[in-house]
Amino acid sequence: MKYVRQFGGGSAEGRSKDKALLGGKGANLAEMASLGLPVPPGFTITTEVCRIVMEKGDDVDPAGRSEFDPLHLGPDELRGEVEAALERVEELTQTRFGDPSSPLLVSVRSGAPASMPGMMDTILNLGLNDTTVAALAARAKNDRFAWDCYRRFIAMYSDVVLGVSAETEDAEDPFDKILEGIKTKHRAQRDQDLSAEALRETVAAFKAEVQRATGKPFPDDVTAQLWGAIGAVFRSWNNPRADVYRKMNGISATMGTAVNVQAMVFGNLGDDCATGVAFTRNPATGTAELYGEFLTNAQGEDVVAGIRTPEPIAELAKRLPAAHAELVRVAKLLEDHFRDMQDLEFTIQSGQLYMLQTRNGKRTGKAMVKVAVDLVAEGKLQPKEAVMRIDPAKLDEVLHPTIDPKARPQPVAKGLPASPGAAIGKIVFTASAADQWAQKGETVLLVRTDTSPEDIHGMKAAAGILTARGGMTSHAAVVARGMGKCCITSCTSLRVDAAKKTASFIGGGKELKLKEGDVLTLDGSTGEVFVGSAPLMPAQLGSELGTLMEWVDQFRRLKVRTNADTPTDARTARSFGAEGIGLCRTEHMFFQPERIMAVREMIVAGDEAGRRAALAKILPMQREDFVELFRVMHELPVTIRLLDPPLHEFLPHTPAEIEELAATTGKTATQITHKVAELTEANPMLGHRGVRLAITYPEIYEIQVQAIGEAASQCAREGLLVHPEIMIPLVMVPEELKRMRELCTKAMTKALGGVPIPFTIGTMIELPRACVVADRIAQHADFFSFGTNDLTQTTFGLSRDDAGRFLPSYVEQGVLPSDPFAVLDPDGVGALIELGVRGGRSSKPGLKVGICGEHGGEPSSVEFCHRAGFDYVSCSPFRVPIARVAAARAALSEERP
Ligand code: ADP
Ligand code: MG
Ligand code: MG
Repeated sequence: MKYVRQFGGGSAEGRSKDKALLGGKGANLAEMASLGLPVPPGFTITTEVCRIVMEKGDDVDPAGRSEFDPLHLGPDELRGEVEAALERVEELTQTRFGDPSSPLLVSVRSGAPASMPGMMDTILNLGLNDTTVAALAARAKNDRFAWDCYRRFIAMYSDVVLGVSAETEDAEDPFDKILEGIKTKHRAQRDQDLSAEALRETVAAFKAEVQRATGKPFPDDVTAQLWGAIGAVFRSWNNPRADVYRKMNGISATMGTAVNVQAMVFGNLGDDCATGVAFTRNPATGTAELYGEFLTNAQGEDVVAGIRTPEPIAELAKRLPAAHAELVRVAKLLEDHFRDMQDLEFTIQSGQLYMLQTRNGKRTGKAMVKVAVDLVAEGKLQPKEAVMRIDPAKLDEVLHPTIDPKARPQPVAKGLPASPGAAIGKIVFTASAADQWAQKGETVLLVRTDTSPEDIHGMKAAAGILTARGGMTSHAAVVARGMGKCCITSCTSLRVDAAKKTASFIGGGKELKLKEGDVLTLDGSTGEVFVGSAPLMPAQLGSELGTLMEWVDQFRRLKVRTNADTPTDARTARSFGAEGIGLCRTEHMFFQPERIMAVREMIVAGDEAGRRAALAKILPMQREDFVELFRVMHELPVTIRLLDPPLHEFLPHTPAEIEELAATTGKTATQITHKVAELTEANPMLGHRGVRLAITYPEIYEIQVQAIGEAASQCAREGLLVHPEIMIPLVMVPEELKRMRELCTKAMTKALGGVPIPFTIGTMIELPRACVVADRIAQHADFFSFGTNDLTQTTFGLSRDDAGRFLPSYVEQGVLPSDPFAVLDPDGVGALIELGVRGGRSSKPGLKVGICGEHGGEPSSVEFCHRAGFDYVSCSPFRVPIARVAAARAALSEERP
């Protein structure tokens, strides 16, 4: 058999490693079956079939609205293989599909190679019609159960296969509406309270709704049901939420999904039945505890869809102790087998446990670190493996600010802490509103009654998510944790009226009303909700992260420095493990209010003497800046970039500022206005800036270097070890650097006044020409630091400030794989960098090479720098730990064969 693989009855035609072909769910069902675990038998239709169907479907309908009909578009062998596989399931379960006395019911489940929780469709209880429902009732001696299955099946099938669903985002699902009506009529509080008779009435009403909405009766033929469901699962690969999820997680759209057809087991046969989800460790915090939720007398979708709020797994030990003990045993076995935290789906039928799914659990950044470190302590992983399990980008979450415990306000409400972190934002009530507000640059919180996978685009746009219903294992909570978004579920005092755009918190006989746009703070670590914005404080490296970082530092070869202009930033970066400053921009120092006037005087001065007079005022202030930085960075190198931006950026613009400058300099306002106009450039990014400033006005750099030298010698006298590195920006020809080297060496030597402080002089490489003539530039340089922001701009001929209008569309359409300002472009910019490194080291072996653009903290770019033989990367303070991990992973992946 080629297109269909079986599992169950103690064996399987596949293993966990076959995820590409069987999908993650199918591959792990096969693995569990072959481990002898209790898995209901079934079979997997491979992803290959989905690809064949998608491809042919596109031919059939050039508009892309293919029908995904597997019988028509799939391979010829498919029908026969499915029939044979179904027969085997019938044998194993002693039932027959569509049989009027002992019918087989199946679930038809999606399952892609990469896990996409809740993004695609699944149908339960397939194989029911008016005849088989009676047989099911008779065999189970339970009418209520049989009709409960039937009504669930019709609602799911009609939604997924027949497309009968709510017309708009805010509208209620038609089947929910009917069910609510029947519950009211029969005075039933909960779904479980409905009698068999009421459920029979529900089925009749559901069928009438299908007839009304589609003009056709609900399909009775079980074979037609099966193929309809298979086609619909294939189609769900392309539904909008799956598409958003794939884009967000960089999953390819061409892989397709597998389809799993599996014998049903029933968690809704009575009170000795249950269904649930469990994690082998807490996915929010990483704590080693069986963690999860269940519902008695229910079917699986009730838990994962977040419709009913389930009970914590610990309760299961009291209700169904034997099944709970078995679950504990299986959970441990699976975690040990996969050597990672597992996310399990299970059902208990009449006291007997069945496993329906296992996968490596999605987790928060915090849990990611703790689980990896704990698994090493438990002897299950090697430190190297633990480091390779870390997604460096996800560490970002751990480094997010939290609510300051010293200034914590009184919460207005509390829910379940589904995903940690603090979020402050304006509240909105629909996913679309979240999207729209976020596009206007607002930080929003998505506030909903329940969480639905349909909301994925809104969750992506929001800073945090708050819901009235749903548990900690609902799909929305899983997705939020995956995104590292703060999420609180089951906030029972919350009422949301999405149509009226209002919400309220009810409690203690009081009601607090809120409207769209009001500000709340969420604490996803405690589940607490605050009105207004609560004070935040920066994150600290916890002890697990500290341990991880110790390993990381043993494995990496790249050094990690930071981009810091202020002592505060430098201090933060050092606490995160920065090994020096790779870029200190001096222009920020010029912008401070008490200095800007002196800077302006310098710019408008008519001659060198005037400029020097103004610069003399700046000198002591600049020296003080460097003294502070050198103190913080005691023993570590500090690379200082001399003035880079075009001078006009410092000039006054408002009439009042112009008047003030005129008064100080003894010029007229008109003269100043003329000077401003004279300095205005058509294309400042390519204009009079960087080293070009100092070629025309050498005294600017001279004074800056004097400040550096005097600060260094002052610190040295205090007993500090200082390592100044002077960096010249925007060099395009070797002659520029040659002159600057002479100038800086002279000024530095003079300023040091004989104090023996080693210093170096190097350059930023940020123009394509500089990469090409790097061998000659290196003759005057002690180091190169690639300024990849400008290098990307100049290589692409793309202004970063203007690219926002069209670059997102390039990425969206797949014209570019990613934003080159975020992820270093290896083919173009990367090739120039490699050329530059090779050229530089050809004339100066051992030339020190680093990077100081934004890319220095982006994991894949860090890996590029490692491969290109860099000595260090430099990034913003909060990205230092991320770069350290990325550097270690780069070194470790090289070790592998
Ligand atoms: P998703 O990928 O959205 O989680 P699944 O295919 O895992 O969808 O199905 C959702 C839930 O449906 C499962 O967690 C399980 O509880 C229930 N389910 C699926 N197949 C079966 C089955 N054969 N018997 C009983 N319950 C099932
Ligand atoms: Mg599932
Ligand atoms: Mg630059």
